[in-house]
Amino acid sequence: MGNRQKDNNRQNQDMYRAMGLSPEVISYGENILEELRDRFAAIDRVAEYNQLKVLKAMQEAKVSEACLSGTTGYGYNDLGRDTLEDVYAKIFGTEDALVRPQITCGTHALALALMSNLRPGDELLSPVGKPYDTLEEVIGIRPSKGSLAEYGITYRQVDLLGDGSFDYEGIRQAVNGRTRLVTIQRSKGYQTRPTLSVSAIGELIAFLKDLKPDLICMVDNCYGEFVETMEPSQAGADMVVGSLIKNPGGGLAPTGGYIAGTRECVENAACRLTSPGLAKEVGASLGMMNAFYQGLFLAPTVTAGALKGAVFAANIYERLGFAVIPNGSEERHDIIQAVTFGTPEGVVAFCKGIQAAAPVDSFVTPEPWDMPGYDSKVIMAAGAFVSGSSIELSADGPIKPPYAVYFQGGLTWYHAKYGILKSLQQLVEERVVCLSDSVENF
Ligand SMILES: *Cc1c(COP(=O)(O)O)cnc(C)c1O
Repeated sequence: MGNRQKDNNRQNQDMYRAMGLSPEVISYGENILEELRDRFAAIDRVAEYNQLKVLKAMQEAKVSEACLSGTTGYGYNDLGRDTLEDVYAKIFGTEDALVRPQITCGTHALALALMSNLRPGDELLSPVGKPYDTLEEVIGIRPSKGSLAEYGITYRQVDLLGDGSFDYEGIRQAVNGRTRLVTIQRSKGYQTRPTLSVSAIGELIAFLKDLKPDLICMVDNCYGEFVETMEPSQAGADMVVGSLIKNPGGGLAPTGGYIAGTRECVENAACRLTSPGLAKEVGASLGMMNAFYQGLFLAPTVTAGALKGAVFAANIYERLGFAVIPNGSEERHDIIQAVTFGTPEGVVAFCKGIQAAAPVDSFVTPEPWDMPGYDSKVIMAAGAFVSGSSIELSADGPIKPPYAVYFQGGLTWYHAKYGILKSLQQLVEERVVCLSDSVENF
């Protein structure tokens, strides 16, 4: 190492010390990082490709300065909104897209896609096990007002096999004359199953379409956007659905959701979001267009930073003996990292560390609470510029066995790195973790 480099290193370490990290935690992190150079280079190559993909779509859609200002009222002929939907369709390789601030969150986008494309008497199938917690009430797995079940839409589920692979035989038996729509969740969500790669999703869809060609295959794409160079819509999905306060909003979108897919699926969704007859023609973009475009433009690099954070955290906690999903060396298909602490104390301490590392609300202490849509107390750490945004550095964990924390985001890799080290510091200080026990691992 040259003298200049040594000085910089020392300067950075002094800064980390000034921000509450002990020398042991700092060097533990640096040792782990040494081994991750190739992984990080691979993440950067994907980001480079996706940056060009986004840029190409914006150029081809002729994004202009006029697109960046919004409309009010009905929002007829909203150039920014219509062009942005064209950009999304180009990026996801779909016929059309619906990208709106009126879609309030990921759950809303998914509910919209389901409710608009299913009719009474139809059956919904999840061939990848239990869907995301909040969808249980949408589907009616847990009885709820306005659920699909209330409209006479039934639900069937085929769990993944013990090794995380698809139960093709079970799926073959589950598909019947009423099966209309298949929901495939790409990311693990609050589960400890593996996240699905785009190519695995492609294989599953090919199998399903072979069984029944007119099935609508929808992918819950939350947290998966821009992690790979291809999206599930380029592997056969009829619809991909997600939230703008996750990956594709790049941290700048203040709200919103998207559905990209076939003309038919998107039109159904638009008719349900606004009104039959109005469909995509109304919906003022208000002042959001600038943030939607700029966030999308930044999304590939923001996602890459979050991915580096996830890989870093996996390697840190794996080395300390905790179960981590994905593991330290596995290929990544989303930005979520699960760490199983096995105790509520571990989950709470981890979240406290993430909170203390935030740019906003770093001085508050997160507490477990009964969050709407979830069936146990959940603790959430987030000090975000956009409330609840989970592309920003955040962590959450349901307070129930196996006491796993789900960690994601970081608008920059450097913030993710500091947050992870701060969580480690908190675990050390609360004696959940003892670093000297694991020093011999190096
Ligand atoms: C976040 C998420 C959702 C729900 O999104 P919200 O914006 O929290 O409503 C659905 N599915 C998956 C896999 C998610 O990660």
